[in-house]
Order: sequence, then C-alpha cells, then structure tokens
Amino acid sequence: MSSWWAAIHGYRHPVLDAALHAQVDRFAHVMFGGLTHAPAVELAELLTGITGFDRVFFADSGSVAVEVALKMCVQATGVPRILTVRGGYHGDTAGAMSVTDPDGMHGLFRGHVVEQVFVSRPPAERTPGDLDEVTEALGSQRFAAVIVEPVVQGAGGMRWYDPSWLADLVGLARAAGVLVVFDEIATGFGRTGELWGMDHAHVRPDVMCIGKALTGGTMTLGAVLTTDEVGERIGGPFMHGPTFMANPLACAVAQASVSLLLSQDWRGAVERISQELYGGLAAARDLPGVADVRVKGAIGVIELDEPCGMSVLQPRLVAEGAWVRPFGRLVYTMPPYVCTTEDIAVITGAIVRALS
Ligand SMILES: *Cc1c(COP(=O)(O)O)cnc(C)c1O
Repeated sequence: MSSWWAAIHGYRHPVLDAALHAQVDRFAHVMFGGLTHAPAVELAELLTGITGFDRVFFADSGSVAVEVALKMCVQATGVPRILTVRGGYHGDTAGAMSVTDPDGMHGLFRGHVVEQVFVSRPPAERTPGDLDEVTEALGSQRFAAVIVEPVVQGAGGMRWYDPSWLADLVGLARAAGVLVVFDEIATGFGRTGELWGMDHAHVRPDVMCIGKALTGGTMTLGAVLTTDEVGERIGGPFMHGPTFMANPLACAVAQASVSLLLSQDWRGAVERISQELYGGLAAARDLPGVADVRVKGAIGVIELDEPCGMSVLQPRLVAEGAWVRPFGRLVYTMPPYVCTTEDIAVITGAIVRALS
C-alpha cells in the first residue's frame, strides 16, 4: 500500500533518513511568516523547476493543500462556487469534503459542508456529448474553479478516465474564464506511469496540489503550485497561514525524496511493476465475484461485485504473505517503486489466492 501511496522509495531509505538527521541537527522548525529558510527555498526551486509553475505554498497535508488551492481561487476571483466531478476524492477537511463525491465516505457530513456543483464522473471511454453537463454548468453560473484528479480517480473508486476528456475540460473552463485546479496528490511522482497524471493529457492547470509521495512517506507535507498570473490576481497577502507551514524537516526530506526519484529510472521501474501487476493479477479475472481487473502505472485494482468484507479478507491476505488494505468493493495495491519482481509476485499471488 506504500502507506497510503506515499512511501514510493520503501521504508527506512538511507537517503531520506540522512536528510532528516542532517536537518534536525541544523534546526527542526521556525515560523514561516516573515522568515524563510533554505529547505523551503530549495524545495520550492526544485518543484517550480520540474513543473514550470512560478509560486509555491507549503501546506501541512494533502487535505490542507486542497483547502489552500480552493481558497486561492476564491480569493483570486471573488467567486465562491467550485465545479467538480462525481467519483472524486480530495481529502477530509470541510472544503475538501465539499468537492469529494457526495455519495462517498463523507455522506454523513452533507449538511455541514458547502454545496458545490457536481457533474457526472469522467468517462472511461469517450462518447458524444460527454462534456455537455460541464458546458451547461459553466454556462449557467459563475465558478471560481473546477477541480479534478487528473486521469486517475483514487480513493473515490480507483478508476481511470480518458485523458482527452481532461484536455477538453480544461479548454472549456479556460473559455469560460474559470480557473483549473488539478489534485495530483495521489497521481503525482510517477504513480500513473507519467511524472504527473496531467502528462497523459498534455495539459497544465492554473493551480496544482501535491502531497502523499512528496516526502516519500516520511513526514506530513503538501504543496500548492500556481502561476504568477494567479498570484497577482490574489492581490495582497493570501489569507492562509498554518503554524507549521513549510516545516523544515518535511521540506528537507521532500527535497531528498524528489531528487532521489528524479535521479533514478523511475519510469522503467513503474513500467516493469505495471506489467508484473498486469500479469500477476490476470488470474483473478476468472474468479467468481470479480467484476474487473485493471492496472495503470503502478496501480493494480481488482473490483468485486460485492463489498469485499475486509474483516474476513484482510487476515487471509496477511496469511498469504502480503498486507493489503481493501476498501468497499476494491482490492488494490500501490507498491513502492523499489519492489522487485519477486516482491510484486508475493503481492499479486497473495491477492489472487486470498480472493480464491
Ligand atoms: C490522499 C488524498 C488527499 C488528502 O491528502 P491527506 O494528506 O490525506 O490530507 C487529497 N486528494 C487526493 C487525490 C488524495 O489521494
């Protein structure tokens, strides 16, 4: 599970541990209001360098990064409303819940969160008129932004959709003067086979959220990247200032993790894991109760006809040699990129045998 998809380099990686040790010997934290520090500056330069964005805001987690992104768009436009799609997941805080699928895990809090506007889930395959709802929504009211997970919807159902739909969505939003936010918290750092999910569609948003694998699964950190243009539209100070903003330990280890990733043949590793997941999970296709088996990048998913009954299934997975955490009708794996061919065989073998 890479600890909720974050530990892409595995556990106790010496490079990440050394970065943390070195930083704690310099200083652990200092407020980031009116002060700055090398770990944040260096990480910001690295992130803007590899993405082409101009500005970075460091947040405490993925959910907070989503809150920050939405607030940036609202402050920049003066419009309160956000457009999004069904089937998405953007985090557990109130603003993030408001753009997460309302029929999903946050259903209990419906009355508590702001009501945003949802259109149908992005399609796995294109059909004529599959953006009509978006066109209609954009034509009928004003929005600060549209937010989506590029190409792969993660915790909302582990589904992928046609990249050309994303490209067309961006085109429609731009034509309507609506800012585009990509939540790359799950899809970033190579997980889908490209460095970013958006690379499958060759598009760029106005605002991008990252998190999860940013620190290689060692510390909590999220970041929001944006352009000078959005920064200028925000005008004065952006009204968000977390106490532990740009925590130096998290920034130092993030810099080490991203640099380590980029110094390796991550694309080759993800491609190999992808093929091994595909081959290893294929046997599940013929099992009764299996609705679908799908693989994208280093993500392997088996979708069942019925909820999997985690309390029964998980001990069996462990007994078969792999700790996997299914949810709902999904049994899935997102292994660290350091997994060897043998490691992947252990994971896929355990899943197939446990399901059998
Ligand atoms: C995990 C996730 C979040 C929330 O990140 P946290 O660090 O858990 O708050 C937001 N968006 C997506 C797409 C995620 O996968």
